[in-house]
Amino acid sequence: MKITAIDTLFIDRYLFVQVHTDAGITGLGESGAWGYLEASAGAVETFKRYLIGQDPLRIEHHWQALYRWSHFRGAAIMGALSAVDIALWDIAGKHLGVPCYQLLGGKCRDKARVYYHVFGQTKEELIQGCVEAKKQGFTAVGHLTPFLDEPRHVPYFQTHARKMQDAIDTVGRYRDAVGNDVDLCIEIHRQLTPAEAIVLARGIEQFHPFFYEDPILPDNFDAMALVAQNIHIPIATGERIHTIYEFEMLLQRGAVQYVRPDVCMAGGLTHSKKISALAEAHHVGVVPHNPLSPVSTAACIQLAACIPNFALQEYPLGENELPKSGIVKSTIRLENGFLIIPDAPGLGVELAEDAQQRFPYRPLPVQIRLHADGSVVDQ
Ligand SMILES: [Mg+2]
Repeated sequence: MKITAIDTLFIDRYLFVQVHTDAGITGLGESGAWGYLEASAGAVETFKRYLIGQDPLRIEHHWQALYRWSHFRGAAIMGALSAVDIALWDIAGKHLGVPCYQLLGGKCRDKARVYYHVFGQTKEELIQGCVEAKKQGFTAVGHLTPFLDEPRHVPYFQTHARKMQDAIDTVGRYRDAVGNDVDLCIEIHRQLTPAEAIVLARGIEQFHPFFYEDPILPDNFDAMALVAQNIHIPIATGERIHTIYEFEMLLQRGAVQYVRPDVCMAGGLTHSKKISALAEAHHVGVVPHNPLSPVSTAACIQLAACIPNFALQEYPLGENELPKSGIVKSTIRLENGFLIIPDAPGLGVELAEDAQQRFPYRPLPVQIRLHADGSVVDQ
């Protein structure tokens, strides 16, 4: 079998890659470099010069070739490599008539626990989102900020005392709203300094959050380790890093209790499986990052199926609802807060024939939030 052509498809706010072969099998992948999808598609164009004519089943070899042929790295390139890797696994599964996880060690579980996304611009909306998730049978809610999802055009200002106390009280209200039957995954979106992150974590410890995600900018692993060493709730991080080398540096410092590799950014299924094994050796759980399309969800579920230390799957709001579900022919079955591991060959998901026409590309606007003093703040 040989690779004959590779397409990049911009659909809605996603970038998909299709790898075609002379056996009539097509593999599907997605890039997770969502801030720079055009750059990621450009990297796929470069990869084509190597991949066309190659045997698609030599997945690890092609991974090594694409990662190591030049010394340039970064999210856009890794998103492209991930999309190609996922597509090659899809081809291998379809060629052999088995799901990808069968080729990665087989099933460790029959279903994968997910967390529901909660969005809202008022506390009442966020609390309502938690209640709604519980009603729908979810056992965990995430993307759950203790701050408000305020519009980015609103200048930011809060005193330290109010910022901390409001956030602590808000997490308490989430807990009151759902009791102990729903886990709370608290998402900080890199909005705090290490000193603030320690104060807030100590304040919300009493509400037993499942994890405390990206409390600070993820760029300095020593700073993340400093926070981890001074709090008593688990840190989840890793959505912006993409290699085994970076994850090992994070793990070795004791800076993380749940790693969050993005299968569409951290080197596809090939590399995410290795990252999961590194985490396993540190008794650290895996919560695959997934703010993307149902194709990404399908890839995450292949990983969740075959790793022993899978903990929880991010499941973006509305995936089973139009228009998101219209991008693919069918989505993975959700039952009482768990996704059922599919048994279809490959990834088990295909783009709808008319997806490109029905869901034209929506490039992300570049938006930043400013502080009341005019400087940039993280949100
Ligand atoms: Mg996150």
